[in-house]
Amino acid sequence: MAEILTTQAELDEVFARLEKDYGALNNRQQAYAIDEIGRVRSEVTELLAEYADGEGVVQRQQMNRILSDLDVVESNLRQTGELTFEHIVKETSEYTTARLAPVIGVSASAVMGVNQHVLQYVTRRFGEDGLVLSDRVWGLSGEIRDELSTVIRSSIIKGEGINAMIPKIRKVYDNETWKIRRLARTESVTAHRAAISYNAQESEVVEWLQFHHGVKRTDACVNLANHDKYGKGKGVYKTTDTEIWMPHPNCTSYATYILDERWL
Ligand SMILES: [Zn+2]
Repeated sequence: MAEILTTQAELDEVFARLEKDYGALNNRQQAYAIDEIGRVRSEVTELLAEYADGEGVVQRQQMNRILSDLDVVESNLRQTGELTFEHIVKETSEYTTARLAPVIGVSASAVMGVNQHVLQYVTRRFGEDGLVLSDRVWGLSGEIRDELSTVIRSSIIKGEGINAMIPKIRKVYDNETWKIRRLARTESVTAHRAAISYNAQESEVVEWLQFHHGVKRTDACVNLANHDKYGKGKGVYKTTDTEIWMPHPNCTSYATYILDERWL
């Protein structure tokens, strides 16, 4: 095994920097998801332009064809959404692992397995809503499509031109961005915490995790932080305890490593 030079104080310092940098990464990921999924706006605009007459107006006779063409838009949304969130989960896992694995002696060969475990866990876990990640992406895509249908239908009935419709389409999308942002945050944070634990499982110097409640001090995570589950102290958990990975939506809690006493 590689020689571990880390002390508890150094390790705490690694986590303090990691949590700060990770916060910035997650902000970038939220913006990325909004941009990627936002490309649907130009797709819808192009679709309308194809059906518009010389005056930029879509005739009622075209309505059914346009609305059924939204099937393609919805399917592209799903595909883009699934790829985007999978990318975010992988990026978070690799980022977290790259920072932690070297300081706790996780071998390069174990790192690939850690990142695979994280991706599997995050994409297959059932959330409080009883859904897995791809279900949530399908739900989101369907909601955007339904809103687009409503807006386009009423505009065509009123005889509005494309120029009047474009800002309404933009608004549909803007109304949904908070859901994209929430999804990007939740999935990434779960991947981050899962990566912290999976790396610890591969390490010989970390046996326990110290859980820290989030800044908002929500009951769910404050209770976890105060709970002495193993008689090892408040907020001390095993590396296999998944209840600390996503205590509640939008939770900012996190865990740090407790170095095994034999290594101190
Ligand atoms: Zn919390």
